[in-house]
Amino acid sequence: MRILLVEDEPEMVSALRAALKRHDMVVDHAGTLLEAEGFIAVDSYDAILLDRQLPDGDGLSLVPRLRSTKNTTPVLVLTAKGDTADKVDGLDMGADDYLAKPFAFEELLARLRALLRRPAPLQSQFIRAGHLVLDVGHREASIRAEPLSLPRRELLVLEALMRRTGRMVQREALMEAVFGLDDEIQSNALDTHVSRLRRKLADAGVTINGIRGVGYLLRETT
Ligand code: CA
Repeated sequence: MRILLVEDEPEMVSALRAALKRHDMVVDHAGTLLEAEGFIAVDSYDAILLDRQLPDGDGLSLVPRLRSTKNTTPVLVLTAKGDTADKVDGLDMGADDYLAKPFAFEELLARLRALLRRPAPLQSQFIRAGHLVLDVGHREASIRAEPLSLPRRELLVLEALMRRTGRMVQREALMEAVFGLDDEIQSNALDTHVSRLRRKLADAGVTINGIRGVGYLLRETT
């Protein structure tokens, strides 16, 4: 799950970023409208958390610009302005939901989950390869119905590979699925996740093959 957080208050940013990461979300952060537009131009997100009062304008102005380019990414507006008129403004302009600060993180998460469920997920909830089943919605993997416990990033790598079973997944695409743009990444981090996965998937009826510098491919061996 990749989230763009558009917010300029450093405390809010670090609290939200930490909390979202704990819930398996990859977070990119933009502090201004301009930065946000830059991110949106090069990346796609599962949802955008949008503050209204930004240094270079009203966050809401981003929404019609987004929609005019047929970008349907769900937008949850976060703001100190919580009165009814402002809510109507936001929803009129094409935002999907509205949350007034201060809010409980649990509520933010619940709203976010609701947004991510709407519209129906593009892929089925379960992806299968060999004896391996991945429940994408619940982020659970199993081998022959035995639960397989995987750390967040290994799970994200596995998901990206299983979505394209039998096909090469480019290194850049894997990096993008697993790391936020401003995560501290060591160059071999991806390879480390893959080699750990390989060990855990020894009995799973799949292999992960790599081409150095190009990418990885998950194949069924059963
Ligand atoms: Ca602000």
